[in-house]
Amino acid sequence: MAYTAMVAGGGISGMSSALALHRAGIEAVVYEAYDRPADNVGAFLTLAVNALGALRALDFDVSRLGFETSRITLTSGSGRRIGELPHGPVLPDGTVSRTVKRAELYRALREQVARRGVRIEYGKRLAHAQSAGGGVLATFADGGTAEGDLLIGADGLRSRVREIIDPGAPGARYGGLVNVGGYARGVSAGGRPGTMNAIFGRRAFFACAVHPDGEVWWAANLMRATEPTPAELASIGEHQWRAELVDVFRRDHGPAVALIEATDRISTGWVTYDVPSVPRWHRDRMIIIGDAAHATVPSVGQGAAMAIEDAVVLAKCLRDGPDIASAFAAYERLRRDRVERVVAQGRRTDGWKTLGPIARIPRDLIMTLAMKHMARTGNDPNQWIYEHHLDWDEPAGSSR
Ligand SMILES: Cc1cc2nc3c(=O)[nH]c(=O)nc-3n(C[C@H](O)[C@H](O)[C@H](O)COP(=O)(O)OP(=O)(O)OC[C@H]3O[C@@H](n4cnc5c(N)ncnc54)[C@H](O)[C@@H]3O)c2cc1C
Repeated sequence: MAYTAMVAGGGISGMSSALALHRAGIEAVVYEAYDRPADNVGAFLTLAVNALGALRALDFDVSRLGFETSRITLTSGSGRRIGELPHGPVLPDGTVSRTVKRAELYRALREQVARRGVRIEYGKRLAHAQSAGGGVLATFADGGTAEGDLLIGADGLRSRVREIIDPGAPGARYGGLVNVGGYARGVSAGGRPGTMNAIFGRRAFFACAVHPDGEVWWAANLMRATEPTPAELASIGEHQWRAELVDVFRRDHGPAVALIEATDRISTGWVTYDVPSVPRWHRDRMIIIGDAAHATVPSVGQGAAMAIEDAVVLAKCLRDGPDIASAFAAYERLRRDRVERVVAQGRRTDGWKTLGPIARIPRDLIMTLAMKHMARTGNDPNQWIYEHHLDWDEPAGSSR
């Protein structure tokens, strides 16, 4: 169908949407609120094989970004080994999970979008949208307007499009953790390249992985019973984070303190949220995707993955459906159950990170037994997430 689509938001779901719509022959323009590309986003993320498969459906090659992360080890803060497992499955062609810097993924997606000739407009914060003349009229905070046959809200956790579709829609739910991270050089700590090391410390969770060039990528999850405000987070300087992190991990075995001390620049706190269930994803010719519709906590490693899958499935539904209303309905039918299960799984995984000192003891025992069972049987509770396969050429609705 020869639609024109407006995409509000130029993050992972917005850029993936631009690529998917272009591939489906649908004209699109991306409107991003910030006036320049957000390349300084400090964290890294792991793309499991389902995310890599969805990127492949977009003809997007990530093999030059980051590094393969085929194994995961779990240890406790006392240094006791909980277990080691594959970090997701290996596809028949040898593809395994890949860990990439968020900023590099954003940049590569954006460059690909530009190469395919899709327009991206920066400094365009969507303020209002209304159905008009069989399409949608969007108004931006700078007073400008744009029109299209449909509006895709890829505008993240605090989505304006979500609010426009349903003013009563639930918003983001605080997850109890603040993420801090960095990149360390010149230290031998961190384990073998290609392995994600997860350490369930006495007071906080720590993860690190060694890039083949020797740089160690690390992240810590600090517990905060009450949600910090953006102003509180902004007031915490790098020295303060470093001091807190060293204090939190000083009694734990493992590389955390050495890595924190060897890091020049600590990337400051992102608060963990999720958005478990938004009752209305679409109204008239407006729809939300990615974090706007169903953000998940980082623990399950699937937020970006779900955003990319959404983009592929929505473009296929628009490509194959008789009209926009049917395409939106088909999209929701194909996506809702999967993404909400992923959000719930993320919440459960996060629960393991936020336990107090007494509950940590049975947790470590239960995790050790579960890891042994998984190693013996090959039954990974996230298997259903990874084995979802999207094929661009198959009709929408036939994803396995
Ligand atoms: C610390 C951390 C670690 C993570 N680790 C993983 C992982 O290992 N694996 C994984 O798959 N996922 C991970 N995630 C999740 C993943 O990063 C997100 O799920 C993903 O970025 C969501 O993409 P999105 O495009 O929907 O939202 P975003 O990336 O937030 O993009 C939204 C965009 O919309 C723009 N915008 C906002 N409002 C407007 C408006 N009104 N008008 C126009 N533009 C607007 C914003 O500026 C932004 O560019 C992690 C997240 C965090 C915070």
